[in-house]
Amino acid sequence: MKIAVLKETTEGERRVSASAETVKKFIGLGAIVAVESGAGATASVSDQAFADAGAIIGDRSAVLADADILLGVAGPTPASLVGVKPGAWLVAGLNPFAERARVDEYAALGVEALAMEFMPRITRAQSMDILSSQSNLSGYKSVLDAASEYGKAFPMMMTAAGTVSAARVFVMGVGVAGLQAIATARRLGAQVSATDVRSAVKEQIESLGAKAIFVEDVKGIEGEGSGGYATEMSDEYKAAQAALVSSHIAKQDIVITTALIPGRPAPRLISDAQIASMKPGSVIVDLAVEAGGNVEGAVAGQVVEVHGVKIVGHRNVPSRLATDASALFSRNLFNFLSAFWDKEAGKPVLDEEIGNAIRLTQGGKVVSERLLS
Ligand code: NAD
Repeated sequence: MKIAVLKETTEGERRVSASAETVKKFIGLGAIVAVESGAGATASVSDQAFADAGAIIGDRSAVLADADILLGVAGPTPASLVGVKPGAWLVAGLNPFAERARVDEYAALGVEALAMEFMPRITRAQSMDILSSQSNLSGYKSVLDAASEYGKAFPMMMTAAGTVSAARVFVMGVGVAGLQAIATARRLGAQVSATDVRSAVKEQIESLGAKAIFVEDVKGIEGEGSGGYATEMSDEYKAAQAALVSSHIAKQDIVITTALIPGRPAPRLISDAQIASMKPGSVIVDLAVEAGGNVEGAVAGQVVEVHGVKIVGHRNVPSRLATDASALFSRNLFNFLSAFWDKEAGKPVLDEEIGNAIRLTQGGKVVSERLLS
């Protein structure tokens, strides 16, 4: 059983899908691990550190040769996989909806592509969930990005020269990223409020010492769908939410938006008119910018200024914390593969529930229900 750790081919991707710790653990399970030279460089993991952990270091064709499992953070270009053993597993964040054409190419190459972001949200898969581990870091980093663009301080400061007032931070969308954004903004001393469509999170917001801002008394208010994800809301709800946000947002210094709906464009939460109502110098961070954006005028990969308000639209936020993001991502992959490790077979054997959820291609065909329906 040979596991290949690929150097990322996606532009701007700084993470790596293995750490010295997970290399050692895979070897402990009886695997041979081959790491593509330079794979960890942008995440501060040297070839030497991988070699010291027991990995073989080589170029792409050497690590690919006879590999049974390929690990990646994002999906590699199909062209870079030519020569791969048919039936080899490709385990990575494959972004299947946005990269649909690529999935066909993986099938044509004969690899069994396993999309880690399709991991079901069930208790036993929590430690394998790349979306949670990476969103948590994105939530933290979004607050730091906001703070560095903001021309004022976050905490209240009473100085001999006068008092600096605390920043008001509003978090829209309180999943994993939003909860971490609330906690981080609170630690920096901001006054924090937050909203979501799922009323179940009210209590979590309050337990972090923030104020919950929620639409009440509107039909279809339960915004929770399968797996704890949000659903698309009714027009009545959207209108009530827009009115509530309009009155609240004008008083905020920082807004962080994280709202996503799986398989659909991100919901639009902030309009140009609402941005115009904010004070000049305010900052909005749109963590959903790559899914279409929660904020009108947000541009992926840029910080733009609209009506004197900075809108931050960094791409791939977890990659901006590449070292920790890589360490957690690597553990997610190890937790996944080791949970299914069959000692006698010397390789992982998936069960139906998780296998069917994450398998995109098999035997030269696309097999994922979510992509075929
Ligand atoms: P997400 O990234 O899909 O979305 C971010 C947040 O945006 C969610 O809280 C969502 O409700 C909210 N949102 C969507 N539309 C909105 C709108 N119009 N206005 C305001 N907010 C809107 O969410 P997530 O971080 O994946 O978390 C979703 C839930 O799943 C959470 O309860 C989380 O704890 C749970 N979860 C469970 C597991 C597990 O059991 N394995 C793993 C991760 C997350």
